[in-house]
Amino acid sequence: MIPVNEPLIGHNALLYVTECLKTGWISSAGKFIPKFEQEFARYLGVRHAITTTSGTTALHLALASLGIGPGDEVIVPDLTMIAVPYAVLYTGAHPVLVDVEPETYNLDPNQLREFVERDCIFNEKERELINRKTRRKVKAVIPVHLYGHPCPMDEILKIAHAFHLDVVEDAAEAHGALYYPGGNKDAARMAGTMGRAGCFSFYANKIITTGEGGMVVTDDDALAEKARRLKDLAHDPEHRFFHTELGFNYRMTNVQAAIGLAQLEEIDRFISIKLDMARYYQELLGGIPGLTLPREKHWARNVYWMYAVLVEDEFGLSRDELMRKLAERGVDTRTFFVPVHEQPLFRSKQEYHGQSFPIAEALSRKGLYLPSGLALTREQIERVAEEIRAIAALTA
Ligand SMILES: *Cc1c(COP(=O)(O)O)cnc(C)c1O
Repeated sequence: MIPVNEPLIGHNALLYVTECLKTGWISSAGKFIPKFEQEFARYLGVRHAITTTSGTTALHLALASLGIGPGDEVIVPDLTMIAVPYAVLYTGAHPVLVDVEPETYNLDPNQLREFVERDCIFNEKERELINRKTRRKVKAVIPVHLYGHPCPMDEILKIAHAFHLDVVEDAAEAHGALYYPGGNKDAARMAGTMGRAGCFSFYANKIITTGEGGMVVTDDDALAEKARRLKDLAHDPEHRFFHTELGFNYRMTNVQAAIGLAQLEEIDRFISIKLDMARYYQELLGGIPGLTLPREKHWARNVYWMYAVLVEDEFGLSRDELMRKLAERGVDTRTFFVPVHEQPLFRSKQEYHGQSFPIAEALSRKGLYLPSGLALTREQIERVAEEIRAIAALTA
């Protein structure tokens, strides 16, 4: 079976991890933690990077550090990984769903604006956005750079600025993806560095990995300090073992940071493997009727975390039928995420009753991703493309 994803672990990871084991620095103290944080911050061009135990806890930590809590609302895209609305729920706040756009699968700024203008009141005096129906404060928005393609940040930041929303970017799938403000490549910004905070995951299938792990990045000194405190049980800065805030243990281990540092040394190579993979798939799969290939907007560099395609009606087989046939031929694939509003956990809550997000629903029904791992060979890409062409020819 050609797997959907496999990490590439280089020799330095073994070296650094061995050092941790030999010296006994295996917990969350040790030199690899600050080193990984500094190097990650430098790579992105941000002031602060704070390691966490996962992308999920990075999101929770960022929201908690912004003071988001019970009685608040946070806007999230309907088509996303479940950790995004979970992180909002962990704070006691409520996720508000908006639809995505059909070409990049990302949060649609028009839908965001529509929600704000139709469903909210902006209290000029307090500079607060209030949801008309629920009366709760809408505090933040989480643009998710899905499958490696950046969100249209100019529009999102403009709306967020106008209505005093904090922007927490979820860049868990978009390490090294670039956004060109106003379409200007010379002004390129890394995904995760444009909001008040950005969150990354280092799960084994992400662009770089620490096994499990995450990072919060920010340019805001006070926010960084608070995140550092909260992730380590919120010890009072002057008074150890004295606690005035609710903290968490979201500390990454030195062993994980050792792997992360070694992975970060190779990130440029990993991204170029992803770009080559995407170019080759594009070349081999172009022109198949009913198969929509992933796009790259002129204002973005897509890092193709996953090579995500859509199986349209014209293809002649449903997405699920294509997946089944590919599996029979030894090619592993995965479906897109299930929209948040279709999750039983959310459907059972009154406030999500009767909601519908047609773009997210359609993408979730039609979308799948092809083998996209860093260890994928050119021959394997050719095999995948041949099998798809063969299946397409049978249905024509
Ligand atoms: C992977 C992922 C997360 C969660 O990261 P974990 O490290 O698995 O907790 C969050 N958001 C998105 C978009 C992801 O792909």
